[in-house]
Amino acid sequence: MYSRFSPVNPLRLLLIGLLLALARPDLSGQTASSATPASGENGDSLLIRNLFDHALTASPAYGWLEELCKGIGPRLSGSAGAEKAVRWAQERLSGIGCDSVWLQPVMVPHWERGPLERAALHLPGGSEEALAVCALGGSVGTAGQVLRAPVVEVFRLEDLERMGREQLEGRIVFFNRPMEPRLINTFEAYSGCVDQRSSGAREASAYGALAVLVRSMSLRMDDLPHTGVQYYEDAADSIPAAALSTLAAQRLSRALREYPGLEVSLQLSCRNFPDAPSYNVIGQIRGSEVPDEYLLVGGHLDSWDLAEGAHDDGAGCVQSMAVLESFLQLGIRPRRSLRCVLFMNEENGARGAAEYARLAGERGEYHLVAIESDRGGFSPRGFSVDGVEGVKRLALNRLQGWLPLLAPYGLHFADYGFSGVDIAPLREQGGALLGLVPDSQRYFDHHHADSDRLEAVNKRELELGAGSMAALIYLLDRYELGPAGDPPSPR
Ligand SMILES: [Zn+2]
Repeated sequence: MYSRFSPVNPLRLLLIGLLLALARPDLSGQTASSATPASGENGDSLLIRNLFDHALTASPAYGWLEELCKGIGPRLSGSAGAEKAVRWAQERLSGIGCDSVWLQPVMVPHWERGPLERAALHLPGGSEEALAVCALGGSVGTAGQVLRAPVVEVFRLEDLERMGREQLEGRIVFFNRPMEPRLINTFEAYSGCVDQRSSGAREASAYGALAVLVRSMSLRMDDLPHTGVQYYEDAADSIPAAALSTLAAQRLSRALREYPGLEVSLQLSCRNFPDAPSYNVIGQIRGSEVPDEYLLVGGHLDSWDLAEGAHDDGAGCVQSMAVLESFLQLGIRPRRSLRCVLFMNEENGARGAAEYARLAGERGEYHLVAIESDRGGFSPRGFSVDGVEGVKRLALNRLQGWLPLLAPYGLHFADYGFSGVDIAPLREQGGALLGLVPDSQRYFDHHHADSDRLEAVNKRELELGAGSMAALIYLLDRYELGPAGDPPSPR
């Protein structure tokens, strides 16, 4: 058990109550943002200080992450681990005193890696060398056979068309485009080469390829293969797809230069099963003034099967849960309803995200803002802003106006950008979509690989992220998204 609740300190609560009374918007019709009383501004910075103090000294976030990683472990959709994680999250959200906690049913894909994955390159003369390999999510296996064929190295999907059936039929296609190291934002580098993983098999099968091997999406040179989702269109293009570690990719590439036409053998025991029932987990604190408007914080509860899903996305889950916990512990009653949503199946289908948005639409639940944390539990730098045109502009304007309040905590960044797979379907409802943006340099060392374990997460950095989300939710609840050109400009 790791739930560590700070004992309630009556003096502290009294102080916070006082600050809240000072910080509350004037309810006579004039909003706090237009009045911006000096006491309110001071109240904001003191309250934000309190939220960070709580995150850094009393938050259960890291203990929760330990439970999720060490007590439950991998949580791929449709697995026993995912099922356990659902029950665990429901219990923890109930335990902190949410007004309501519920499960939202959703059918999810069910794929299993199976016990066997093996690849080797075969050198002239009969010797062979093992290559570190793992199946890509959703891949078919090799049907109990050893698939052995000559390898062709390519760098772009467009290379396939140029080479054509003549050079690709009956071969294993090896996609070896590395992440671009000159891009400072590693998510941009990832986006720049993930197409070979997500659609390499589908594209190569059209030219008669027998299987694909893809260089892992990581800038680190090591022997850990990184999995990730890939999609087929139909049974005809369903050829085995696997990732090589960056070192194995380098080795294979060099060997191919020396011995063109070199053969590789591949064995995978993975397979797809019928869809399985699962759930999004939702905890809510009911709003005191506008309960039918929502502020959402969230991450995804599912993870890949190779490790513990610590950064991806255990971190985002416990940070989101910790936002509600901090409001409850500090006695901050939000004006709007504050929801923590732990989405199921982000990794290989985003069915939980689609179902959440569908139901929210059906029920007319307006989300003023949704904040997702799914970029790892690293030092927070700021927030990305997305949404429909006008709303996006208002939200960025607001956020930039608040940066002076957030800068003491290392938050200097606010700009337009994609904010998260799970909240993306809420765009149509017109609210602002924000993403917690931490430092990105080490994320892809661990992303979808065996090293994404609790040990890779720094407790303090994780807590700073939770504090950042709580602070922003507090400001959004207090000031809303006012008209452009009229940010509250607090000091
Ligand atoms: Zn993720």
